[in-house]
Amino acid sequence: MKYKRILLKLSGESLMGEKQYGIDNNRVQQYAQDIKTVFDAGIEIAIVIGGGNIFRGLSAEKSGMERAQADYMGMLATVINCMAMQSALEDIGIETRLQSAIKMEQICEPYIRRRAMTHLHSGRIVIFGAGTGNPYFTTDTAASLRAIEIKADVVLKGTRVDGIYTADPEKDPTATRYEEITFQEVYDKGLNVMDMTAITLCRENKLPIIVFDMNKEGNFMRIANGETVGTIVK
Ligand code: UDP
Repeated sequence: MKYKRILLKLSGESLMGEKQYGIDNNRVQQYAQDIKTVFDAGIEIAIVIGGGNIFRGLSAEKSGMERAQADYMGMLATVINCMAMQSALEDIGIETRLQSAIKMEQICEPYIRRRAMTHLHSGRIVIFGAGTGNPYFTTDTAASLRAIEIKADVVLKGTRVDGIYTADPEKDPTATRYEEITFQEVYDKGLNVMDMTAITLCRENKLPIIVFDMNKEGNFMRIANGETVGTIVK
């Protein structure tokens, strides 16, 4: 296996499936199966999930809500998604722990880095909820930060597109996909991979990012095997 420890970032929207809002449990179950295949191959997996399928701070601010308050609501939304994923993984026999950056002791552990590492060593999947615990950040930044903290080998950003393109492929039919790209090119070309805070954290800590289509069954395992899938930023 190419990687020993992976941080998988899933957007909230990816959990919606074909729905317009909320969680499509079939989609969550499908992801859980894909994750199990990689887990069964002996790879340690930590997961960060976004909240955009339920609540986004920035959108709420646009309609008049105070930003920090809205962001905390967004962070709570991520925990709901994490709980759905936790259930789906446990239903198929995987032991998990959910750790939240905002304390919610009735439903999950608080985020404790060393404990998270112990869980990973002990054969549990760790799911990180509530982003970084701070407003004005994103779950992409949480994914980069947690990946660095737990010394993951790579951040895998599972999305609905199969990588990073020269332009938006839905608007520009001539857009082509990069197989590999540098952090500098992401800055120079203004490519929409992750927000700049997340990109900078990865760059400064030499942590590669792979953007790939999580909806294509087996893709996660292909990457874990070292196959070229999606786009790698390094
Ligand atoms: N959020 C935040 N701090 C964080 C992570 C998330 O304030 O560290 C809030 C923010 O309002 C964001 C929402 O949580 O809009 C959902 O996260 P995100 O937009 O990253 O989710 P995704 O786009 O991945 O579904």
